[in-house]
Amino acid sequence: MIAEPDGPEDRLRRFATIWSRAVFPATSTSLTRPEFEERLLPLARRLSEALRARNLDAEEGKAVGAALIAAHCTDPDALSRTLECVDAYLVLYCGGDGPQEDLRIRSARLQHAMAAGFAQALRERTLAEQEAISVAALQAQGVVAQALHATEARFRAVFEGAAIGIGMADLEGNILQVNGALLRMFGITEQTMGGRNVREWTHPEDAPQTWTLYDELVRGEREHYHVEKAFYRPDGTVLWTNLTVSLLRDADGNPQYQLALMEDTTERRLLNLRLRYEATHDALTGLPNRTLFFERLEKALGAGDNQRFGLCYLDLDGFKTINDSLGHAAGDRLLVEVADRLQSCATAPGEMVARLGGDEFVALTTGPDTEREVDELAGRIMNALITPVSIDGRDLTVRGSIGIVEGPAGERGPAEVLRSADITMYRAKSAGGNRFELADPEADARAITRHGLTTALPAALDRNEFFIEYQPLVHLGDGSVRGAEALVRWLHPQHGVLGPDRFIPLAEHTGLIVPLGRWVLDQSVRQAKQWQERHGGNDATGPLRINVNLSPCQLSHPGLVQDTVDILERAGVRPDALCLEVTESALIGADDDLLKPLRQLAEMGVDIALDDFGTGYSNLANLRRLPVSILKLDRSFTQGMQQFPADPVDLKIVEGIVSLAHSLNLAVTVEGVETGAQAEQLRILGCDTAQGWYYARPGPPDRLHELALVDATG
Ligand code: C2E
Ligand code: MG
Ligand code: MG
Repeated sequence: MIAEPDGPEDRLRRFATIWSRAVFPATSTSLTRPEFEERLLPLARRLSEALRARNLDAEEGKAVGAALIAAHCTDPDALSRTLECVDAYLVLYCGGDGPQEDLRIRSARLQHAMAAGFAQALRERTLAEQEAISVAALQAQGVVAQALHATEARFRAVFEGAAIGIGMADLEGNILQVNGALLRMFGITEQTMGGRNVREWTHPEDAPQTWTLYDELVRGEREHYHVEKAFYRPDGTVLWTNLTVSLLRDADGNPQYQLALMEDTTERRLLNLRLRYEATHDALTGLPNRTLFFERLEKALGAGDNQRFGLCYLDLDGFKTINDSLGHAAGDRLLVEVADRLQSCATAPGEMVARLGGDEFVALTTGPDTEREVDELAGRIMNALITPVSIDGRDLTVRGSIGIVEGPAGERGPAEVLRSADITMYRAKSAGGNRFELADPEADARAITRHGLTTALPAALDRNEFFIEYQPLVHLGDGSVRGAEALVRWLHPQHGVLGPDRFIPLAEHTGLIVPLGRWVLDQSVRQAKQWQERHGGNDATGPLRINVNLSPCQLSHPGLVQDTVDILERAGVRPDALCLEVTESALIGADDDLLKPLRQLAEMGVDIALDDFGTGYSNLANLRRLPVSILKLDRSFTQGMQQFPADPVDLKIVEGIVSLAHSLNLAVTVEGVETGAQAEQLRILGCDTAQGWYYARPGPPDRLHELALVDATG
């Protein structure tokens, strides 16, 4: 026989069955299990529909959570069993064939909503019950008073019939009578209760006003009061109650007895503690989470005089690689192991470890001596990570970078401290990782400026805060100006003029380099057009040329060729008047795809210069593959020629490079020429063009025009 595939209705039913089996033992319902399942079925349907609805409605989850309370599932276990069951089976049985990842996210959101709905309904029910108790208290007060005045028998009936604990004492606090419910709550017999005094029942967690209210009541100054109060049971366990105490007066209105009504709230309190635990702990590792850590840090930072704090901010090195290569399950196991090890590093009073998320952990130490302690703590953490973690039979080496912040309480807020720790951790990481670094206010400030610059970059382009300086390129043979290199600057409203080294890396990092680079290209090409119009150059030298730097990101941007063509056409500048400078390191290991746009530009006549040549792994053999027509020798070569006579080895190297370049049909430009001696030396070695302070510093465009004019006429 071939089994019929289940329809959606069967699968829904199966989910409801599993759910009811899981939760039934934890309910206080009077229904049978199958009846209970019928009760859960419509809730299961709501969850199922919410899971697959077009837009996820969290209210549905909340409503189901609240419905659980209505179905007497108020036990702490009922919620967690429900959530476990929904987590494991809802998508499986009710997800249909939707995308799994999406369904899992929705299921998780529904679970959060259910927990919230559950907690809210429970709170509302508690309030309603407290209200009911107050009413009952008032009624009882009336009834008991009557009973006292009437017969002993009726008085007993009230006592024993009540579901809540009732006790009576005289105004000195001597216990006169208690009912069965109260004895059961305390777990004692009537004999042991007799002869005891109310005042013995102090508890360390008594609210400060508890006993003041009591005194006022027995003095006849108040009729009743209501508190939450804990009691020790004889076996040492704690009973939590909602306690209402009322004053009973005699027929003449004189205070005579006190009457206590109490409801056992121990379980509800446990549930609340558990909900609080879940809200403040990381589900994967069981460590305190960010919320709890912030609370503790805030407390540590608010501590009094002579108190200090020390914080280690740990980020695992290369965790992403482990996650990507071995899968998330392996990554999770690694995190759990790391969490366990960290926890064993911070066991002293005043120390704690928390997981902030992902592979980021923090360890906190507090007290008067954290200067020494925090170093030791960081050392223990590094040690704890040394032993490899074994996962699926593989030994994984775990390394981490730690940023340490230490200081007196009362000066900084938690956010500032954490930011400093984070910045310091990144410093440890960029120094190679597997180390700890101590926070340094200056380094912090630099990082903050860097951060500030990064965020200000996009608006700076819109607000026209960038400008370009031009540095002439001079022909070494005849000293004529042949063109200029465009060098961008940022006129920052607060920091003044910033050089490209301050912001180009940031712009590369954020991608802003593409529009910024396009702007530089556009501006400089138009500038070249103006020079050409005012100073045409002569037949020997051709029109003045413009050199523009290109970042690696621009190279791989698909619009590069088209943008360049458009810019040249719009300005009316010939391609052979443009030279694009690309650093050697950007082309190392470049494949044909990356070289293609450069090749296209070169075929159109644009010159490509290899900038800063000699700083990378100058693979000379590689030069033949590249669509390059100019080598720009890095400044470091020129520096070796500062004195006269120059270092003979430097001379040999440059000579070698120049002759190789020329044999490959490449022109050679030298950078950083600062003296006449250098210029002369480089000319003798056969370099073609030069650039440097000896000729001119980078400056406004008109300066170039003047220089070019001078050498044309001079
Ligand atoms: P680079 O392309 O190698 O530019 C030459 C750098 O050397 C310039 O620094 C220039 O001011 C400096 N310099 C020129 N002559 C001398 C000299 O005689 N002695 C010394 N010590 N230095 C000299 P700058 O302007 O700070 O530019 C630094 C780098 O920023 C440039 O190096 C270039 O890689 C990059 N850059 C500049 N503008 C742009 C741009 O528009 N786009 C991109 N992607 N990068 C740019
Ligand atoms: Mg350059
Ligand atoms: Mg350079």
